[in-house]
Amino acid sequence: MNMASYLIKPFLDQEYPIADYGKGIYLYDNEGKEYIDGSSGAVTASIGHGVLEIADVMKEQAKKVSFVYRSQFTSEPAEKLAEKLKDWAPGDVNWSFFVNSGSEATETALKVAIQYWQEKGKPSKIKILSRWMSYHGITLGALSMSGHVGRRARFTPLLEDFPSVNPPYCYRCPFHKTYPECQLMCAEELETTIRRIGADHIAAFIAEPIIGASGAAIVPPEGYYQRIRDICDKYEVLFIADEVMSGIGRTGKAFAINHWQVQPDMIAVGKGLTGGYAPLAATMISDRIMAPIESGSKLIMSGHTYSANPQSTAVGLAVLEYMEKHQLVKRSEKMGTLLLEKLHNLKQKYPIIGDVRGKGLLTGVEFVSNIFNKIPFASEVSVSKILIKKCMDKGLLVYPASAGIEGHGGDAVLIAPPLVIEKEQLEQLIKIFEEAVKELQIELQV
Ligand code: PLP
Repeated sequence: MNMASYLIKPFLDQEYPIADYGKGIYLYDNEGKEYIDGSSGAVTASIGHGVLEIADVMKEQAKKVSFVYRSQFTSEPAEKLAEKLKDWAPGDVNWSFFVNSGSEATETALKVAIQYWQEKGKPSKIKILSRWMSYHGITLGALSMSGHVGRRARFTPLLEDFPSVNPPYCYRCPFHKTYPECQLMCAEELETTIRRIGADHIAAFIAEPIIGASGAAIVPPEGYYQRIRDICDKYEVLFIADEVMSGIGRTGKAFAINHWQVQPDMIAVGKGLTGGYAPLAATMISDRIMAPIESGSKLIMSGHTYSANPQSTAVGLAVLEYMEKHQLVKRSEKMGTLLLEKLHNLKQKYPIIGDVRGKGLLTGVEFVSNIFNKIPFASEVSVSKILIKKCMDKGLLVYPASAGIEGHGGDAVLIAPPLVIEKEQLEQLIKIFEEAVKELQIELQV
């Protein structure tokens, strides 16, 4: 871009193409270059770009009313979206508190958990446990819960010391064991941590059912979440599923936690909820958690000017209806199986690929300098950055994800295309990805 720019972009020393328009899985810049959106942006554009039905809904809603203040009015789109989400969510997670971003959704869950225990007469339960290699958002409360070493670093003095247990990261088991001989030590660690800190101080445990940005689609071993749920129940600790990335059909089920039939107390959703057509997220709360609040203070002490915004919730409702109409959850499962199969084939061909994982259309590829002992590349060699640039030059967008327990990032990417992707388009995606991996491997002399 030649003109002076005063827009603060993520990296101030980097050139960004100017997006012009999008159609389905493709984005086009203002020079006419085509990109396959292989990561749905930040795992967000689930129904693809440029869906005219959604544009029509936006226009019609704007003509009616775009904003009402939530303390003065409710609105039909907000009511209808809450009703629809109730049908999507597992069990008795029936209530929705609408916010604008995933960070606000997890932070609201934190506050609701603390408030719940206050209403129950247990005000000392204020700590939230979480895992290393997790990302729950950028605001200080959400960042406090995030086990993302890089993003925490500058603000550590301001953060609560919440992350405390190791992730269920079998490829690099934190306990140097293999499943099932490990007997789920990663889940058991939650119990020892609760006992050490004291259950009287702990309000909730939060986890991404499938770890996204800070692990690249890490799927826990069988039995993990069942054990987590049992431990939470035993010690009266709420279980919050952060499904901001993995929810709304992304992994081939409505919510990723459904893969294990485990019932969370609260679920945070965002991203795919509007497929990127409007900023919207929600803290979904179960009847059990709402009950003492309904009969107690009758007010959740949180909220924003744009909470439950009619324009955003109209979009959310239209996106969920679009997903139902086109059976995109099922499609995510089917196309995800195909994508994983193709990525596994690449792993056979390119020793630079150490691991391939994921569920549905949330998949991750981790790179290693030595496939046998899984040695990552030195942190100065930002492998994912080089690969992402190569992919982008060739017209494919993939998403950087860190991997490695000590916060050593940069060795993994997420591939998570819109759920509307066709088989031929998936082949086109893989072809470009393979070309980039091949070049990378030659350059790094693996
Ligand atoms: N939780 C998870 C699992 C996420 O992946 C993200 C964003 O990547 C967030 C929370 C934060 O969402 P947002 O960026 O919308 O604030």
